[in-house]
Amino acid sequence: MSEIIHLKERRKSQCKHLTVAVDETLDQVECEDCGEVLNPVVVLRDIARRGLSTNH
Ligand SMILES: [Zn+2]
Repeated sequence: MSEIIHLKERRKSQCKHLTVAVDETLDQVECEDCGEVLNPVVVLRDIARRGLSTNH
């Protein structure tokens, strides 16, 4: 009997996780907007696809 528990089921599926924060204690990356813990590889991939925004 398997039971999947969604701890952060906040219906934020439309969040693009554009603002991410690195938790240096837990060594994990999470979205500052929705708080979802993200796969660092996915974050890097998205940054690479987006290109590093030079907004200065
Ligand atoms: Zn998000």
